[in-house]
Amino acid sequence: MRYEDFHRRSIVERDAFWAEQARLVDWEQTPQVICDYSRPPFARWFADGTTNLCHNAVDRHLPERSAQPALIYVSTETGEERTYTFADLHREVQSMAAILQALGVVKGDRVLIYMPMVPQAVFAMLACARIGAIHSVVFGGFASVSLASRIDDARPKVVVSADAGSRGGKVVPYKPLLDEAVRLSQHKPEKVLLVDRGLAAMELVPGRDVLYAELRQAHGQAEVPCVWVEATHPSYILYTSGTTGRPKGVQRDTGGYAVALAASMKYIFCGQAGETYFCTSDIGWVVGHSYIVYGPLIAGMATILYEGLPIRPDAGIWWSLVEKYKVTAMFSAPTAIRVLKKHDPAFLTKYDLSSLRALFLAGEPLDEPTARWIADGLGKPVVDNYWQTETGWPILTIANGVEPRQGRYGSPGVPMCGYDVKLLHESTGEELTGPNQKGVIAIDGPLPPGCMQTVWGDDERFVKTYWSNFPGRMAYSTFDWGVRDDDGYYFILGRTDDVINVAGHRLGTREIEESIASHPLVAEVAVVGVADSLKGQVAMAFAVARDAASVATPELQLRLEGEIMKRVDEQLGAVARPARVRFVTVLPKTRSGKLLRRAIQAVCEGRDPGDLTTIEDPSALDQIRSLMQDSVQPG
Ligand code: AMP
Repeated sequence: MRYEDFHRRSIVERDAFWAEQARLVDWEQTPQVICDYSRPPFARWFADGTTNLCHNAVDRHLPERSAQPALIYVSTETGEERTYTFADLHREVQSMAAILQALGVVKGDRVLIYMPMVPQAVFAMLACARIGAIHSVVFGGFASVSLASRIDDARPKVVVSADAGSRGGKVVPYKPLLDEAVRLSQHKPEKVLLVDRGLAAMELVPGRDVLYAELRQAHGQAEVPCVWVEATHPSYILYTSGTTGRPKGVQRDTGGYAVALAASMKYIFCGQAGETYFCTSDIGWVVGHSYIVYGPLIAGMATILYEGLPIRPDAGIWWSLVEKYKVTAMFSAPTAIRVLKKHDPAFLTKYDLSSLRALFLAGEPLDEPTARWIADGLGKPVVDNYWQTETGWPILTIANGVEPRQGRYGSPGVPMCGYDVKLLHESTGEELTGPNQKGVIAIDGPLPPGCMQTVWGDDERFVKTYWSNFPGRMAYSTFDWGVRDDDGYYFILGRTDDVINVAGHRLGTREIEESIASHPLVAEVAVVGVADSLKGQVAMAFAVARDAASVATPELQLRLEGEIMKRVDEQLGAVARPARVRFVTVLPKTRSGKLLRRAIQAVCEGRDPGDLTTIEDPSALDQIRSLMQDSVQPG
């Protein structure tokens, strides 16, 4: 079938198209209402259907493939390697579900999962889905202040965590960060379930903290049936950064998500039941939710859960796993490939990669040299795909499962089924239909199945943030600039808001600014994303000290920079740490006091800062320019 016809049908014969896709998953009650869009922009997909994500990911495969691998755990940090069959996974998930029930969790309760990459994290996600609880996984790289704000927003009954993670052989204790987060939060979870990996000592809080190993003994053989839930029942909340410092809880449904993932596995990733999928992301990110946990399992594939770096014990580790487990589809991020690029390319040909059909890359722009290096090195097609935490699955890519076609370097591809993508003028909202016109990438409603339902607990914020950016037109804004070429391929040109993307991790500059500004010696600060050859972008901070004497010498500046970085590490986590903190006497602002972040960013990247007629003090940019002429090597 021609891809254009397939896509057009998904829009103009929306209900018929998605009713067909709905057959890719199991329902208790087959939906008759395909899309209830009576209250735009809120879409209620498969509104009268009932189903269960865990049933679709685990139970429904038991008759045919109970002895087949489902979850393959590999940790190059601890040396652990273990395969769980679908039957094993079914057992573990039921036992975790029984434990959560014993801790008082019922349908609709939130369970916050703050875990390293261990199998119990996957059991906990699936166990929540099994009993209709709503999970909220918080990336293990986030620290106490980030975690506390998520605890307060999600108000979990139970938190599932562990003693520690490990990165590059270094143990990263989680429990003290969690304890501090609970201390900082208004809402206190009733119970904390802890997996003790034996990596770091834990002090248990009596009455609150319980050990997984002990409860596992009691509930090891428990049978917990799946709770059938409405298709629109929330399956999870995943927090992401936006323009304000307050993280947004992206709320995802159940039925629409199951269908969207099943469709994406078929049309985009071409995954077949019985094969192995390897996604190198982390369960704390959307890619991990969709393509480590739910997507491959729904498709009946084995999924690899990998804890470790791509270069330890050496830069061949991923490819050795492809050979060993006969991986057919692999998913990673451009930054990881740029890391591998610094190592011997012989690693790419050292192992038998004959099982591998394609490498999928997402999360940040994929530059042509990186794409060529890895495609040539592996001798495999590389498929870029563009999406967001909000959408849950690719917006733009190439659907080789519908019609095989060549991608185009620098472009993630064309709109996927159900996405009515438009390029809109940023201020008039007018649709830009000609080739190579720059506009904001927008999506006309309804968003397809699997996309965010709302902002958790805040419908108004959902409408205001995402659907109110274009005059006279209610369209979803991706907050990304883009252009489309003559043939309909899109190119992404960066964010329209204050979100930055460091090594594929999405961060809000406001959150980092708030953390830095909490240092008693800092009067004000601006954080911008600056282009970086390895990480795509890094955060650069420009701070004004409360007292000029505290930054009077280079030594004092270095000391304060170190203190600020430590503070960001402790509050938000090392992922948010700026590459440098530089000190200025004044920040570039408009006369009305608005920070000119874009001008700062342009100067940092050696570009023309554009129109400066509104700037209060032009010398502010000169200070930044001269600082940037010194080294900006990450500190
Ligand atoms: P996240 O919600 O963390 O997945 O980040 C989503 C943002 O990452 C998007 O809005 C884009 O700015 C960027 N992004 C994701 N995938 C791509 C891609 N393939 N090409 C360019 N930018 C991307």
